[in-house]
Amino acid sequence: MSNSPFPSKRAPAYQHIPDEKWNDWRWQLTHRLNTIEDFEALFPLTPSEKEALSSSGLFRVEVTPYFASLIDPNNPFDPIRRQVVPTAREMQSFTGMMEDSLAEDMHSPVPGLVHRYPDRVLMLITNQCATYCRYCTRGRLVGDPRQGFMRDFEAQIVYIRRTPQIRDVLISGGDPLTLSPDHLERVLSSLREIPHVEIIRIGSRVPVFLPQRVTTQLTELLEKYHPLWLNIHVNHPNEITAELAEACDRLSRAGIPLGNQSVLLAGVNDDPYLMRRLVQDLARIRVRPYYIYQCDLVEGAGHFRTPVSKGLEIIEALRGHTSGFTVPTYVVDAPGGGGKIPVMPNYVLSSSPDKVVLRNFEGYISAYSEPQDYQPPDKSLTDPYKPKETDLQEGVLGLLKGDYMNIKPEGFDALHMRGGEPHRLRMDAQKWKALGIGSEETEAKSPDA
Ligand code: SF4
Repeated sequence: MSNSPFPSKRAPAYQHIPDEKWNDWRWQLTHRLNTIEDFEALFPLTPSEKEALSSSGLFRVEVTPYFASLIDPNNPFDPIRRQVVPTAREMQSFTGMMEDSLAEDMHSPVPGLVHRYPDRVLMLITNQCATYCRYCTRGRLVGDPRQGFMRDFEAQIVYIRRTPQIRDVLISGGDPLTLSPDHLERVLSSLREIPHVEIIRIGSRVPVFLPQRVTTQLTELLEKYHPLWLNIHVNHPNEITAELAEACDRLSRAGIPLGNQSVLLAGVNDDPYLMRRLVQDLARIRVRPYYIYQCDLVEGAGHFRTPVSKGLEIIEALRGHTSGFTVPTYVVDAPGGGGKIPVMPNYVLSSSPDKVVLRNFEGYISAYSEPQDYQPPDKSLTDPYKPKETDLQEGVLGLLKGDYMNIKPEGFDALHMRGGEPHRLRMDAQKWKALGIGSEETEAKSPDA
């Protein structure tokens, strides 16, 4: 641990705890902070934090002693504190606020399973987390100690088994790595028995909140179910500690590719240079930055939202300025269930059949000459890869392939016919009459008469 370039911290209030206890994930979980008194043993709370912690009906509060130790006790604006200690601002509503902003419930064929994209599903298997984030998108589901998703697990597996287009299952929650090893193994082995499930992914903040949980026993369990990928969730460079680096090292050595998802949060990571440091530090612990999410329109998270332009500014500070593989995709998860929409600065300035005019991160502008004799590949090379069934979610790709000419919003045709006929069909005199336009006597006259 001492050779790590990253810090290892323990708040003064925990200095007397023996290492065996401090490094035991069960001790960390049972000593989580959730009251005013718990937090004030580490740092003085602001009036807004006290008000939130004394109110009822707030999203659950729990913080592991390990993660709370990363908070600077003298800075009320500390970015770690802001993520996990509630303030009264959570109780403020805002324009566009929704309980289920991603409409996940609408895309759930069985409880706890979200089938939004053609070839993959999101499987919610627990509603428990090691620590609760104040901006959680699934605040409506997560944190209730009386409920879980394991009861829906069999129905989820049946749905996946009888839906052959599902080749990728993302296990999330809550946090799947808070499950007992028996439960986790039951989920993973059930999925691995389904031949068309090619890859399993896990989304977890446990390595960040509770790195002690990433034991050799856990990594030995996970590596039995390859190919298995894992995305962690780090928002700020201060979350990268010697303990997180060690946990990621254990996961990487078990052959698990690691990615990171950040949420763009006001007052936490809404700065281009801070984000550059974050992605560079993630690369050092062998975690590839994957997504930066625009903060969702979720209840309680209004004060975390930034303009979308802030995300663009951050990507502008990354692309070209640091290693390409560390530049994540910035996405807006479309409210209402539209899924992730990538947003990026515009690098294509103009184009003609001969040239594409592009600009680089420095503003250098150049023209790329298009080939004049481009031939698409012979069908014999590409036909084997064609989907066997028509993919109803092809979208813009279907337009490019010529499968259809346009994509219309729901109700487009009816709206534009305005109760009538398609423009090219002649209306008979009776319909004109019904609309109060003309009559048998007036029809022969000029409209201007
Ligand atoms: S770890 Fe994930 S699911 Fe749990 S509270 Fe944080 S954002 Fe929500």
